[in-house]
Amino acid sequence: MKRRNLIKAIGAVSVATALSACKPKEQNCEANTTRQKTYNWKMVTAWPKNFPALGTGANFLAKTITKMSGGRIKITVYGGGELVPPLEVFDAVSNGTAQMGHAGSYYWKGKVPEAQFFGAVPFGMNAQEMNAWLYHGGGLDLWTELYEQFNLVPFPVGQTGVQMGGWFNKEINTKEDIKGLVMRIPGLGGEVFKRAGGSPKLLPGSELFTSLQTGNIDATEWVGPYNDLAFGLYQAAKYYYYPGWHEPTACLEGMVNKEAYDALPDDLQQIIKIACMAANQNMLSDFTAKNRNALDTLINEHKVELRQYPKEVLEEFKFHAKAVFDELGEKSEMGKRIYKSYKSFASQTKSWLDISENAYFKAR
Ligand code: CA
Repeated sequence: MKRRNLIKAIGAVSVATALSACKPKEQNCEANTTRQKTYNWKMVTAWPKNFPALGTGANFLAKTITKMSGGRIKITVYGGGELVPPLEVFDAVSNGTAQMGHAGSYYWKGKVPEAQFFGAVPFGMNAQEMNAWLYHGGGLDLWTELYEQFNLVPFPVGQTGVQMGGWFNKEINTKEDIKGLVMRIPGLGGEVFKRAGGSPKLLPGSELFTSLQTGNIDATEWVGPYNDLAFGLYQAAKYYYYPGWHEPTACLEGMVNKEAYDALPDDLQQIIKIACMAANQNMLSDFTAKNRNALDTLINEHKVELRQYPKEVLEEFKFHAKAVFDELGEKSEMGKRIYKSYKSFASQTKSWLDISENAYFKAR
């Protein structure tokens, strides 16, 4: 009792002093010993190192965790291809090559199709709605359950907001113009594009420019003006289409190796959770702040021609999007549960947003 009171009383005294004052098996002593541990982690990403918003977003997350933990978790961030190729982030974190990863869940559609619900659903929920579903509508619990079998703990880390529709070298005037077009477009959007007669490809961002320039692909989407300007895509295609029907937001993912996460004391787990929330909001703010100026640069300096997808083409995509979404909900029991949750949340939120955000956008 005396010793315990002493530890309680000393409060702010250094941990080393507190440790010397307690027996090894005492509860407070164990907690303090755990708090002395430091962790050197690796974070692999699907982006070029320091790439605007995406790479810098991963850096922000790593730095925030290190600062919040007082240096107890140090994280080295690797660009795509530095430690593992961009599209192998999932496996690298799952098998413990790295403790953390930052990527997009729709990149893993061949391995875990249901993960696409958490990345981007064509004509689905936007960033505000996705965050509401994930944090307050049961979405993140389902995502956590889905990833558990892969030894991963997922967190939303970065919303892009509504993306751009992509870069084309010919105008898209009718739905016939989609037929036969080879386009880099990932996830469910890619499947929709395929059903509309196109030929989707999944390539990491770092390969887009060369692929487009050499004619390996006819068109590509990436993110939005801020990111697309950074890749110089305007040098390889003339027409820039909107809106990004296929990605009303990309909810990017931070993932942690489950064994590494479970081995952390409670306070460090909480730090990771909160740092991921902060990084999630930070990236959306970054994109929202930078996209407008980047678009001006693309139009005024680089003479990019901005085009809106014709209604007919969007209707064609929407028709296939509904079928693709419904089918994804039929693939597995887990898929059914996620589908049901996503669908009912999206429908309820829409009825509220129609009289709040949407009404306001129209009114202002
Ligand atoms: Ca995209």
